[in-house]
Amino acid sequence: MKSDIEIAQEAKMLPIIDIAQKVGFSEDDLEQYGKYKAKITYETIQKAEGQDQGKLILVTSINPTPAGEGKSTVSIGLADAMNRIGYQTTLALREPSLGPVMGVKGGATGGGRAQVIPMEDINLHFTGDMHAITTANNALSALLDNHIQQGNELGIDTRRITWKRVVDLNDRALRHVVVGLGGPMQGVPREDGFDITVASEVMAILCLATSLTDLKTRLGKIVIGYTAKKEPITVAQLKVEGALTLLLKDALKPNLVQTIEGTPAFVHGGPFANIAHGCNSIMATKLALATSDYTVTEAGFGADLGAEKFLDIKVPNLNKAPDTIVIVATIRALKMHGGLAKDSLTQENIPALEKGFANLRRHIRNMSRYTIPVIVAINEFSSDTKAEFETLTTLCQQEGVPVTQCAVWEKGGAGGEQLAREVVQLTQETKAFTPLYSPQDTLLDKTETIAKTIYGAKEVNLSPKAEKQLNDFIAYGWDHLPVCMAKTQYSFSDDPTKLGAPDHFSLTIREFVPKLGAGFIVALTGDVMTMPGLPKAPAALNMDVTNSGQAIGLF
Ligand code: ADP
Repeated sequence: MKSDIEIAQEAKMLPIIDIAQKVGFSEDDLEQYGKYKAKITYETIQKAEGQDQGKLILVTSINPTPAGEGKSTVSIGLADAMNRIGYQTTLALREPSLGPVMGVKGGATGGGRAQVIPMEDINLHFTGDMHAITTANNALSALLDNHIQQGNELGIDTRRITWKRVVDLNDRALRHVVVGLGGPMQGVPREDGFDITVASEVMAILCLATSLTDLKTRLGKIVIGYTAKKEPITVAQLKVEGALTLLLKDALKPNLVQTIEGTPAFVHGGPFANIAHGCNSIMATKLALATSDYTVTEAGFGADLGAEKFLDIKVPNLNKAPDTIVIVATIRALKMHGGLAKDSLTQENIPALEKGFANLRRHIRNMSRYTIPVIVAINEFSSDTKAEFETLTTLCQQEGVPVTQCAVWEKGGAGGEQLAREVVQLTQETKAFTPLYSPQDTLLDKTETIAKTIYGAKEVNLSPKAEKQLNDFIAYGWDHLPVCMAKTQYSFSDDPTKLGAPDHFSLTIREFVPKLGAGFIVALTGDVMTMPGLPKAPAALNMDVTNSGQAIGLF
């Protein structure tokens, strides 16, 4: 089979106007970025508000392994399949970050015959949203340092600044830096650091904002640090939320592209699910819901991270819970969770599959707690055997959930019709959504509920710093905000080597980070990094471009 990029480059794209018509838009509703990409105008977004909402399907997965799960691939293939069998369906996906694109994971445009295109544009600079978010974040840093240089009227303690600069690359050398060196005219020296753009609070805010006005209000609430007396300082006190909103005025508009099979796809916003909240923008999801009978969306990494945050952070802001949850699993990855090494995954191994099923079982039970219908989609690999498939089917049935094989990577929508039919049927069941915790619960209660109920931890330990912060946060009135866990994606625990379904472990919170604009508190566990590093042989080593501008080696 050809590589993802070869398949994507051979695909015949429709003009974006034709794609827009499928969601009831005309040329006037679009701001076109070339022939195949567009943003949707604010007038159109406002017109769509209050329209009937279609059904929402959330795609999530088991904990990722190096064997690959194919969550984006299945999301895209499922939407194509639903359109093929006559259900009007749109995608609402996240946009890729250049960190993983140049690093190890790859892009976020799906794979095989289930891709969103133009894949090279989407994976590189797309419509400039990442640039705008990076610039807004760093404009705040520049304005903050200037405020201090010009006399520091607000009395900001330079040792207590929590706001960091960002860049959309994996660049470990920038994790800790000192700025303002060089004498009185070069600024006030202080410790600073860089996060990756997708971990920026500006990204989280852009994804949760419901309008430009809401964006501005949220930006104003960002806490950038503290005074010597430990009083929080906000962006509104610096009076720069207007400028930051201006920098983001185009980035907030959802982007429209298409799949290889011509399904409309809103690809907008892209926080990681391990260090941020992991969901595409509310603006894009709302637009898809207002213009389509069915919307397929995806939350990052495993269901312990992306889906939990979708259900506990995004849903209250979206005012709409999913009608069905699809959990993607592969037989290869489950065998890895069962202890098999990566180079043995192509051999049939029922005992390893049965053992590794513990990971999927916990995700099924976790998702079922929210009382939304759950289905397992087995993303078929050529090495899967009939006996393995039958074993996995039986194990899922014992959990009381439907399970279907799908071959969308190989066949596109045609390989996902059975899954599509079952998903549509499940969306017809009306069940009330049961949230995991009550908004009134304290930060510690919420953290413990997530750790014990979703992760399977026996207890939560707080570092002395985190413990002290909790007391401070009570004094600031931040004790009832939702918690956004920052945890390794590879394990239910905070130890990436513990695969399967570990239990009897303690989860350690090393620090809490207030994100008042986003409206949640991040709990940092283990040694999860908000600025990833590059591997020994980054994906960038395979990349090139022809003299006519065609990308090579982008997966
Ligand atoms: P995720 O969203 O879970 O990170 P992706 O959908 O981005 O995963 O897929 C990761 C990679 O795995 C892609 O390069 C894709 O082409 C490949 N892939 C996905 N499904 C299959 C499959 N069934 N067979 C072979 N390769 C696959």
